[in-house]
Amino acid sequence: MHICCPLCRAAGEDIDHLSWDCQFARQVWSYIFAWFHVDVTSNLDVGSFIIWAMQIQASRQVTNLWRVGVMTTIWSIWNLRNRVVFDDASFSAVNLTVQIKALILEASRFSLGEMMNSVEELLVLHGLGIPGNPRRSISYVYVFWIPPPHPWHKINIDGSIHGSLPCIHTGGIVRGNGSVMGCFHFSGGRGWAFEVELFALIIALEQVVSHGWDFIWIETDCTYIVELF
Ligand SMILES: [Zn+2]
Repeated sequence: MHICCPLCRAAGEDIDHLSWDCQFARQVWSYIFAWFHVDVTSNLDVGSFIIWAMQIQASRQVTNLWRVGVMTTIWSIWNLRNRVVFDDASFSAVNLTVQIKALILEASRFSLGEMMNSVEELLVLHGLGIPGNPRRSISYVYVFWIPPPHPWHKINIDGSIHGSLPCIHTGGIVRGNGSVMGCFHFSGGRGWAFEVELFALIIALEQVVSHGWDFIWIETDCTYIVELF
């Protein structure tokens, strides 16, 4: 007997169709993939997808939530199908995804594992409304910043490049008399890492000369620059 899919009424019902190929299922899955920032090629069948999904590499926390998401989605679609068939329930993809999200949130209370300290994972967890479980620090190091004593001026400089034809960005901040006295920034031109760090130093020294500062403390993270002096 050929049974019509109760969710789309456009194809025969079997487990592959219901949980994966059905237009309704596709709609639901698109939400799950968006939550987890996952890109899935559409030519997988459901079996291959589950094998692939269980191998996704992420932190323990996000991997656990993702696996819960995958299994909960399949279970929820099947459960919905039964309610539609036996109780004539009304349904929508959006409502089902709200329920799936709530179940993932519920499971997160039991989910062990730590997150990775990455923006990507923070966005995933934030989107799901689940607090991140960052790795605990082994020890705490308290860092204090002491303003340069009078009459010293301290200038912190840094530079960065990006792109295959590297574009220069450089800047610095000047502190003295117990407060921030000014800062500078320059973007433009092309150069390499050492050049941009050197460029930042040149701009800083120009500031020193133009203001007539005599006691200068310049801080950079570029070892080559430090070794020049
Ligand atoms: Zn269908």
